Amino acid sequence: MPRRTKVAVIGGGILGLAHAYVAARRGHQVVLCERGRAATGASIRNFGMIWPIGQPAGEMHQMALRSRAIWLDVLQAARLPHRPTGSLHLAYHDDEAEVLREFAEIAPDAGYACEWLAASAVMERSAAVRPMGLRGGLWSATEFTVDPRLVIARLPEYLRELGVAVHFGNAVTHIDPPWIETGAGSHEADVAIICSGDDFETLYPDVFRGSGVTRCKLQMMRTAPQPSGWELGPSLAAGWTLRFYKAFQICPSVAKLKDRVALEKPEYEKYFIHVLVSQTADGAITLGDSHQYGDCVNIFDKPEIDELILREAETFLQLPDFRVAERWHGVYSTHAEKPFFEAEPAAGIHIVTALGGSGMTLSFGLAERTIAGLGL
Ligand SMILES: Cc1cc2nc3c(=O)[nH]c(=O)nc-3n(C[C@H](O)[C@H](O)[C@H](O)COP(=O)(O)OP(=O)(O)OC[C@H]3O[C@@H](n4cnc5c(N)ncnc54)[C@H](O)[C@@H]3O)c2cc1C
Repeated sequence: MPRRTKVAVIGGGILGLAHAYVAARRGHQVVLCERGRAATGASIRNFGMIWPIGQPAGEMHQMALRSRAIWLDVLQAARLPHRPTGSLHLAYHDDEAEVLREFAEIAPDAGYACEWLAASAVMERSAAVRPMGLRGGLWSATEFTVDPRLVIARLPEYLRELGVAVHFGNAVTHIDPPWIETGAGSHEADVAIICSGDDFETLYPDVFRGSGVTRCKLQMMRTAPQPSGWELGPSLAAGWTLRFYKAFQICPSVAKLKDRVALEKPEYEKYFIHVLVSQTADGAITLGDSHQYGDCVNIFDKPEIDELILREAETFLQLPDFRVAERWHGVYSTHAEKPFFEAEPAAGIHIVTALGGSGMTLSFGLAERTIAGLGL
């Protein structure tokens, strides 16, 4: 007979791993079930940016900062590397500079540690930035980068050290509390926390139907490791990112920037493209991304999207080796209005998903909130 545990976590992406970690650290017996032989969802397909500066002021920014602090503890305890590089948002147009200057003025009072840098000061911080046309940038030391493939592969091993029973190849097909049924046997648990990413069809499909949760597909690329140990320095975001991240919506000037991009670059607007750049543990550069929303994901990638991303990246980024070594797409779950989605379809069953493009950043903070909310 299986041993009864306090908490069952379903899903081995970052959100499931974070919930298992927080529950285990509170002294609970935890079982984690991941459908795949390894987790291959959004959590291994991203930039690895732990990016509090993208979160809107208030509760979500506070959650991101708390999450960041837990990340650092976890990475150290699990003996995993990270790049404590900070972030640079770059301005190559007057309206981008206006938004960033405005943010640098307002944001410190709202709890963001950031400052506007003139072009020459940006160049001192980053060898990767093209000087031509650069107006300046927003510097923040808070952000750091993890290697998603490495952390998602290795955190389960660390959880096992904490006593978590981690099971791969365990697709949970049905929950009849306290029984968690999987294709490879049953587990008995007092509480089930479902972190199933963008799988809305297997467990409690009624909860997802009409909930406002949907999917978003993103196209991504990676270079080979850059030669001679070349370092990117701060992770980079170009001016168009300011259209998307909610933090910058406190700047009235962002409306003007949005209007210009929509008018001048309709092909970028069509696929909601902006360009972010990060570096993995082995020195490769990750580049993306686009956003295509809808429940039905087109599995066939569009070369034109990759071309648009690369063309934009080349306007501000100088790399020793720009050749693309890998291309892929990722899919995350996201909610039309809320920063994440939660539901309690039955006593002791908690669904949490749809962190959108911020799941790496927020995962540990949200997990702490869930576990406290469940009184565990
Ligand atoms: C291209 C891309 C770039 C991104 N960049 C960043 C970034 O730089 N910074 C950031 O903060 N966020 C980023 N994000 C967002 C972030 O990656 C996601 O929000 C986050 O990974 C979601 O984690 P998750 O655990 O909810 O989902 P997933 O990682 O998709 O994990 C869900 C897991 O649940 C498993 N599962 C599903 N159903 C079952 C079941 N019935 N039984 C057992 N297992 C099941 C799946 O197999 C899967 O492994 C990015 C996302 C993408 C796609």
